[in-house]
Amino acid sequence: MTPVPPTRRGACPAFLSPMETGDGLILRLVPADGTLATAQVRGLAAAAIAFGSGLMEVTARGSLQVRGLRRETVAPLQEATWALGITPRLGLAIDVSPLSGLDPREIADGRPLADAIRAGAAALADRLGPKVSVVIDGGGAIRLDGRKADVRLVAMRPGSDVLWSVAIGGGAAVLLPEAEAAARTVAALAGLAALGRAARATDLPGGAASPRLAATARSPIGLLPLADGSLACGIGLPFGAADAATFTALADAVDAAGARDLRPAPERGLIATGLDAAGARAFAEAAERLGCLVRADDPRAFIAACPGAPACASAHFPSRQLAPAVAQALGPLLDGSVTVHLSACSKGCAHPAPATLAFVGMDARVALVHEGAASQAAGPLRPADTLAADLAALAEGAIRVRRPGETGREALRRMAVADLWASKGHLKAMIET
Ligand code: SF4
Repeated sequence: MTPVPPTRRGACPAFLSPMETGDGLILRLVPADGTLATAQVRGLAAAAIAFGSGLMEVTARGSLQVRGLRRETVAPLQEATWALGITPRLGLAIDVSPLSGLDPREIADGRPLADAIRAGAAALADRLGPKVSVVIDGGGAIRLDGRKADVRLVAMRPGSDVLWSVAIGGGAAVLLPEAEAAARTVAALAGLAALGRAARATDLPGGAASPRLAATARSPIGLLPLADGSLACGIGLPFGAADAATFTALADAVDAAGARDLRPAPERGLIATGLDAAGARAFAEAAERLGCLVRADDPRAFIAACPGAPACASAHFPSRQLAPAVAQALGPLLDGSVTVHLSACSKGCAHPAPATLAFVGMDARVALVHEGAASQAAGPLRPADTLAADLAALAEGAIRVRRPGETGREALRRMAVADLWASKGHLKAMIET
């Protein structure tokens, strides 16, 4: 079957407007306060089975997704969510760290600023496009610098007072006190609203043509001390997805470990908070038994993969099915310097930011973007069915040429990986000659 073109740019699944994909509709959910009680996790998992396919995801931005809905099951899932006492975030997307207010390393708690912006922009919400977003980075353990944002605010302490660096559309940042940072953000959003729902902040005066993002994802996996003396334990979902039974088992593990709640987190993670040391250990062990990532150096942490075929009708190859083999093939190169994106079409849903290696489905084959985003894919193309073998050959070649002290990313650059991908014939043979 020929893949259908990806949904237009600007389309995005949301709680009130699920998006059609190859395996039905996706409903995206961000709890307004960022937390889920374990009963709510179990309830959502049951609803995902009753009304969807049972597959659940946490995205790179830390949103929860339920896949495989039908038109007639959307409303029951929304009603089940409300009945569980979960208040979904509606309207303008304003992202803060899931540990805001609990993180002793943060320079400022971003939530009051988020509330001020939300209140100031309330009247604009209907005139802003669905992908318009504000990112507030309080400077804590979980940084949000890999996320696309129309307005990015980062806490700074240049002297005794906290100031916020405000960058609109990736343009030059200015340092402002909190109230002025909120006002400037609302003014930028008003400017966007005046331009129409297709506008993004890069369209505003001073916006950069292509804002730079951090190319290296920083996962929240591991233990983090909290300001109240307890611990948070972050885990990763393998390639951002798990079935409902795994979510139910994770909720049981949270309860058994004595944690307070479970929080969806950036980079396809979940964070249990309010643990003591023994509880944190027990939760991590249970998560590992369930196939989750519990070490930040797990090769899977450096690979983003969209659902791909057969889940998505736009897919040109089975990206998520191939992801474990790709993790194994590239494992020796994934030293923290390399990020890999398997994107079954050029929409790049799983990782909008640039990656070291983005493998992108096009014309039922796979293009490579070296040091760029999936949306930049233009070729060269290689067959999808030899992807894992080709990547194993690339990794072997890069390791062979890697000089002492050189990172995987530097070795890939020096071996001209894009030229190799463009070569015809067997990649392993090419690399060996
Ligand atoms: S990037 Fe993947 S999930 Fe997104 S539209 Fe393309 S094939 Fe589908």
